[in-house]
Amino acid sequence: MATISSSKNIFLHGRWTVEESAKLYGLHDWGKGYVGVNPAGHCTIMPTKDPARQIDLHEVVQGLRDRGIHTPVLLRFNDILEHRLREMRKAFNDAMAEQQYAGGYCCVYPIKVNQQRHVCEQIASLAVELDFGLEAGSKPELLAVLGLSASAGGPGVNGMPIICNGFKDDEFIETVILATKLGRNIIPVVEKFSELELIVKHAKAYGVRPKIGVRVKLSSRGAGRWESSAGVRSKFGLFVSEVLQAVEYLKKHGMLDCLNLVHCHVGSQLYDIRVLKNAVNELTHVYCELHRLGAGVTTLDIGGGMGIDYDGSQSAWSSSINYTVQEYAADVVYRIKSVCDDAKVPHPRVITESGRAMVAYSSVLIMDVLGTSQFAADPEMPSILEAMKAETEVPQPVLDLLETYNTMTDRNLLEAYHDSTQARDEAMSLFSLGYMSLPMRAVAERLFWAIGHKLLEKASKRGELPNEFENLPDLLSDIYFCNFSLFQSMPDSWAIDQLFPIVPIHRLEEEPTRRGILADITCDSDGKIDRFVDKRVEKKTLELHTVKDLPGECAGVEPYYLGVFLLGAYQEILGDLHNLLGDTHAVHLALSPDGSWEIEEVIEGDTVEEVLKYVQYDHEDLKRAIRMDIEAACKQGRLSLPEGKSLMKFYDDGLEGYTYLEE
Ligand SMILES: *Cc1c(COP(=O)(O)O)cnc(C)c1O
Repeated sequence: MATISSSKNIFLHGRWTVEESAKLYGLHDWGKGYVGVNPAGHCTIMPTKDPARQIDLHEVVQGLRDRGIHTPVLLRFNDILEHRLREMRKAFNDAMAEQQYAGGYCCVYPIKVNQQRHVCEQIASLAVELDFGLEAGSKPELLAVLGLSASAGGPGVNGMPIICNGFKDDEFIETVILATKLGRNIIPVVEKFSELELIVKHAKAYGVRPKIGVRVKLSSRGAGRWESSAGVRSKFGLFVSEVLQAVEYLKKHGMLDCLNLVHCHVGSQLYDIRVLKNAVNELTHVYCELHRLGAGVTTLDIGGGMGIDYDGSQSAWSSSINYTVQEYAADVVYRIKSVCDDAKVPHPRVITESGRAMVAYSSVLIMDVLGTSQFAADPEMPSILEAMKAETEVPQPVLDLLETYNTMTDRNLLEAYHDSTQARDEAMSLFSLGYMSLPMRAVAERLFWAIGHKLLEKASKRGELPNEFENLPDLLSDIYFCNFSLFQSMPDSWAIDQLFPIVPIHRLEEEPTRRGILADITCDSDGKIDRFVDKRVEKKTLELHTVKDLPGECAGVEPYYLGVFLLGAYQEILGDLHNLLGDTHAVHLALSPDGSWEIEEVIEGDTVEEVLKYVQYDHEDLKRAIRMDIEAACKQGRLSLPEGKSLMKFYDDGLEGYTYLEE
């Protein structure tokens, strides 16, 4: 017997509390103190983990609506970002103090994780105080980082560290060398041997003694999704034999003291801490050897990979991690210290490039539900009987379904289930063979779904589901159509099956009595979410509230908002323009001293005109074409002049408008 996980509560008629909602959606598990619920049943953000300072998300959405900013909207919480950075600084400071580690710590932010200027600027300005740095992995990123560090970093070799990873050409390296002259503390990391030759060439030409890093191909493998980021088959880094060659080469050019940093990157979202420990162990041995060979090494860069517990389960699988920031810091420090102490090598300064861990918590997407589709629990008997009367002969499977529906009791559930699936299958084959009318097929479907609902309700009252019924809740679940594009706002959900927590941001004082999957507004059948976070096993449906139709025809449904959490890392820049749905609006929120929230910045989402331009359409050309067409239609009497005028206005407004649906 399988218990009906969390939906069981649906059928117990106690008074529902907001705490039950918090538990059901795992707010306290994956929220890590940043997410909560208030007595009004609204989801809240506690940007500093202080329960006394909460931002009510529903209030924010209402406030934005009042200002004409509609969902979908991405909310960024600058205070969360700051809190995270401080938390990481403190975790390493504590670990180092406790273990008497002498080398110091620096976290560099790889801007590829989220290059939005506002995000990078905030990190760059905090980096000055926290002694953090920035990382660039490509030419455009280098140019951005050089600009960002202009205002933020104090100049000189001890200024904000800038690490350059990724493949570099001649021009890239020349820029790096000149930036060193400018006063930037910039370290190119050699990914392939030829880059070292370019560095030496330009360093000599400009009379600069640069700091140089080498990325090492480790033999310890990564794990999970990014396991090929490390290991000897990795596309990046030098074999140990090449590292030795690099030492010889630098020695020959009198630059061995410039070899300053040893680097590896084992992969992203490392969910098992053991993988990291092995890599750090191996890398530190390489570091100590280079020290012994006379290189000027002072820095050990263990790359990114600090993960996020997306599902709150604290376990070693892809949407979770089996460690905390504090454990990560303690383990890293311990490994490096033991290897160095054994080798009698001074403790290096430790760099991590923990991008995901810095920014994931700080963004939340809010989207509105546009409507739902449900399999009715009530087959509407009168209309079924009427449809049957219209037939000369009602097919047997339909009669069987009707019989099953009418005679189902608590005692024959399993039998009813078997009978109804068999009758349904028979009905479908009769239809395919041409022996059943369309109205009869519709009746068969309606009866089948109604039987399913009745079965589920009766079985659930007993608190447990026979194994045969296990899929029934998913099969009968609703579809909630939501105003967003999966491909734009959470591409990893589609590309690598990443899970993100999703929660209604209001009505949490109310029992969610429906279960559903979410569909986006792209016309791609992949544009849906049918896997949801849960502490034990992932859920195939999400508990949701009923959404009532508003009175009046075509009035839509009452407002119902869902929040998608932990979207700060990678999602924004990996998002694409599928169906030409563009960037959503983004709003930066901050806590104000009086405890309320304030808008720091509004970045309007793409307009239709902008996304069309991206694929080489000129909006003036488009308008001209439509205008001529309308003109001709008016002349021929197919459109009246006022109709033509309205259509032209819709077209104009549409081009300037949001790419998502607007009320
Ligand atoms: C992507 C990347 C990172 C960031 O990894 P996270 O998993 O976000 O911490 C760090 N370093 C390098 C070299 C990378 O390619």
